[in-house]
Amino acid sequence: MNINNCINCNCKLYLKKHISNQKYCSKIECQNARRAEWKRRKLKREQDYKSSQKTYWNKWNVNNPDYWKHYRKKHPIYVKQNKYKSKARVKQKRHASEFKKVVKIKLINKNTVNLSINFNLSDFGF
Ligand SMILES: [Zn+2]
Repeated sequence: MNINNCINCNCKLYLKKHISNQKYCSKIECQNARRAEWKRRKLKREQDYKSSQKTYWNKWNVNNPDYWKHYRKKHPIYVKQNKYKSKARVKQKRHASEFKKVVKIKLINKNTVNLSINFNLSDFGF
C-alpha cells in the first residue's frame, strides 16, 4: 500500500487504488480544503462558470433575504470569529499598504541622488 502525506494537514495518507492522484485525507476540514481548491481552480479557468455562479448566488440571495440574519443569530461563535478575522484582514491590508509606501519612499530616496535638482525631500514629507 502506498503512503503519502495529506497536503492540508500533513497526516499520513494511505492511498486508495480507485482514487487517482489522491492528495487529501478524509477529514472534513481537508475535504473542504480540497473542494475550495477545486472551486478556486475552476473559477480561474472558466469564465462561464464564474458568471453562472454569480447569477446563481444573486438569485439565491433574492430568494433567501434573511438567511444570513438568522444564521448569525443561531451561530454567535461564527459572528465573533468573523469579526476577529475581518479585523485581522483590515489590519493586514493596512500593514501591506504602509509597506508599499515605505518601498516607494525608498525608491524615491535612491533617485534623489541623481534627481536632486528636480525633487526636494520635503515634497515627500521628510
Ligand atoms: Zn488531511
